[in-house]
Amino acid sequence: IIFMLKKRFAQHLLIGSGILQKLVDLAEIKSEETVVEIGPGTGNLTKKLLNTPLKKLFLIEIDPEMIEHLKNIIKDERVVFINADATKFDFSLLKEKNLKLIGNLPYNVASLIIENTVMHKNCIPCAFYMVQKEVAERLIDEKSWLSIFVKTFYEIKYLMSIPAKFFIPPPKVISAFIKLERKDFKESFNLKEYKNFLTKLFSQKRKMIKHKIDETYLKKSGISGEKRVEELELKDFLSLYFAFLKSK
Ligand code: SAH
Repeated sequence: IIFMLKKRFAQHLLIGSGILQKLVDLAEIKSEETVVEIGPGTGNLTKKLLNTPLKKLFLIEIDPEMIEHLKNIIKDERVVFINADATKFDFSLLKEKNLKLIGNLPYNVASLIIENTVMHKNCIPCAFYMVQKEVAERLIDEKSWLSIFVKTFYEIKYLMSIPAKFFIPPPKVISAFIKLERKDFKESFNLKEYKNFLTKLFSQKRKMIKHKIDETYLKKSGISGEKRVEELELKDFLSLYFAFLKSK
């Protein structure tokens, strides 16, 4: 079958058996694990995943034609096909406590998929994603509402870089395979509210934070209001947020 790859779905297929196997090895899939693959496309990574002893594999793919194709070529009782948008998918519908996510993500919506992963952190202890190298570096090294949002709940590890030649069609950028590993976290969060709190702090980055957040929270958490948002550390965001929560 010849496919018309769709630009709007950012379809860049990973090829090369060696590299696909390497990604699956890095994900260390054990027996009895439930895995979710995001954007399986033509199923290159999927076939490698099915060589592991996983218990169940959910495939979440937005393109109905790809889903039809996958149903034709994959006959494995462990697979469940889901035609859905991974930026909005409610992972709690899968009724599993410990999902391992993996995917060669569509780069145009990779950040949204990462955000949606964090929104469902309670059932996702671990995720392995192929993203643009630059997106990986920004998440790990720079401060943005999303990087703080992710790092509050997950350790982000840069596993390896992958050159464009391993994809069809080759993307214009270098890729990176990253791992999100959930931290132990006792406090319960309202994630939507926490996101709003962070986006507000990160709006107009040059402005001092005392102009964006009530001074009583700053006093309670012992953080100077003269600071700019990029001068805050992860722990500062947490103490500010908890001061804000307590006063409600
Ligand atoms: N995993 C495959 C294809 C990766 S390309 C491989 O490595 O060869 C990205 C895939 O994600 C495409 O199949 C595309 O159709 C799918 N996709 C794009 N946007 C999506 C979304 N919002 N939700 C789920 N899948 C999406």
